[in-house]
Amino acid sequence: MTIGIWILGNQLHSEQAALLSCQDDKQETHVILIESHDYIKKRPYHQQKLVLVFSAMRHFAEELKTQGWTVTYEISQDFETPLNDWIKKNKITELRLVTPYDKPFSSRVKSFKLDCKIKLIPNNHFLWTQEEFKQWTDSRKRLLLEDFYREGRKRFNILMEDNQPIGGKWNFDKQNRKPPKKGLNPPTPLQFEPDKITQQVIKDIKSYKIPTYGKIKPFKWAVTRSQALQVLDNFIEHNLNNFGTYQDAMITGEYTLWHSLISPYINLSILTPWEVIKSIEKAYYEFDYPLNSVEGLIRQILGWREYMYGIYKIMDDDYAQKNWFNHQEKLPEFYWDSSQTDMNCLKQSLQQVEETGYSHHIQRLMVLGNFALIVGVSPQAVNDWFHSAFIDAYDWVMVPNVIGMGQFADAGILASKPYAASANYINKMSDYCKSCVYKQTQRTGDKACPFNFFYWDFLSRNQQKLKGLGRMNLILANLKKMDKVELEKIQSQAQQWRESH
Ligand code: FAD
Ligand code: SF4
Repeated sequence: MTIGIWILGNQLHSEQAALLSCQDDKQETHVILIESHDYIKKRPYHQQKLVLVFSAMRHFAEELKTQGWTVTYEISQDFETPLNDWIKKNKITELRLVTPYDKPFSSRVKSFKLDCKIKLIPNNHFLWTQEEFKQWTDSRKRLLLEDFYREGRKRFNILMEDNQPIGGKWNFDKQNRKPPKKGLNPPTPLQFEPDKITQQVIKDIKSYKIPTYGKIKPFKWAVTRSQALQVLDNFIEHNLNNFGTYQDAMITGEYTLWHSLISPYINLSILTPWEVIKSIEKAYYEFDYPLNSVEGLIRQILGWREYMYGIYKIMDDDYAQKNWFNHQEKLPEFYWDSSQTDMNCLKQSLQQVEETGYSHHIQRLMVLGNFALIVGVSPQAVNDWFHSAFIDAYDWVMVPNVIGMGQFADAGILASKPYAASANYINKMSDYCKSCVYKQTQRTGDKACPFNFFYWDFLSRNQQKLKGLGRMNLILANLKKMDKVELEKIQSQAQQWRESH
């Protein structure tokens, strides 16, 4: 039997399961990586995302060669043609690959007509296997993140002492929401100049005549494991201390604050979630970092990241099409071009995504996602935009985050209430409103902040559905008390805005 291994662009780790399965037969095993042009034409991807993935793949291919693997690297229109040529040429009888993380790609692979057997190897990149996650869900009525996270802490013995959470509490979430104050001085992110390989990828991308989004330069992302490890170390040394406290804050011109910036690398499998979690835990024991930061970061990876993947895998294939509120509006054009909006919070967040492919969680959830939700944009249009625009976007992580968490289109499988908010929240957690042409206190009139009239319009449009969610009762009671004339003004201003955008 001659084995060939196909390494997908987001499975770039030398201990990924397919490579491990042939570790003792490196020289006899053929390995292939393929850049497909058809694939990147599927949507207008951020140019830096394309550079990151292709450069990381090309670097990884070189790394595998130095480890003694026989590697073929193809740039092609599709996947099937180079696969079949390589299978024929090397007389491969069994093609192995790690089961794709994304469902659409899995289906695609299954439809390939190849001249050999295909063997999918279960991935070892997530801490919970699909079977374990399924067993966990089978034993409960509600799939609460908090329950899942606690189970993970116990199961993997992270931040535990005598079977109890360190610090006496599982969760320090309330200490992760400090608004930004004047004079904060966030650390400069660790950045890398493009080397020869990356420069070549930039040239290649520029030469392809495909629709894209965002700026290609300056490209400063890490593209190798050794650089990604430096990003992790740098985060622990300079950011971890304040990460928890200012996790939800937003400041003009400060793109990254104390966030880790590791999602692009963990999602490409360059870093493993386990090594990240263990490094953070080790830093806690060695340097006594504040628990709200350490626990906060570990909750994101051991909790949210694993949970999102588990939910994605167990949901029916139509999960991505869910639309509980039956929202049908198109996405405002300015999501694709920040210069077309004068709403400062959206302009700042969108500009940053155009320049880097990155924004942090609260910008994604409470500015970009929140606005689309309260306007009533189709969740699938929102999902498409996020998937195109972000450096770390893949189907498995985008669908639950956008459809479930951001747009509440799954009727509350993932979140207990919609993440909908007026300008109050943005004003509290950012400095954006201070330099905005709109007034964050006004609900109607020329200067009224659109987040305000859309927020109340959203509540009134959907009150029947929202009534069933206990956590919305207080705010619905306020809606009920609102003067009828004012509500009509709000609704008509929301409608006018929609028609003019
Ligand atoms: P940090 O704030 O430093 O957090 C550390 C790590 O925790 C992240 O790197 C990530 O691996 C993990 N994490 C935290 N929250 C989540 C979450 N909700 N789901 C999965 N992992 C999480 N994350 C992506 O990786 N890709 C996406 O395409 C993506 N799209 C999102 C879209 C929306 C609407 C929302 C609300 C969230 C999205 N997230 C996505 C989750 C989260 O916003 C990003 O993981 C995070 O902002 C990445 O930046 P960071 O590495 O600096 O994260
Ligand atoms: Fe955003 Fe409204 Fe604040 Fe302007 S006033 S920054 S539009 S929330």
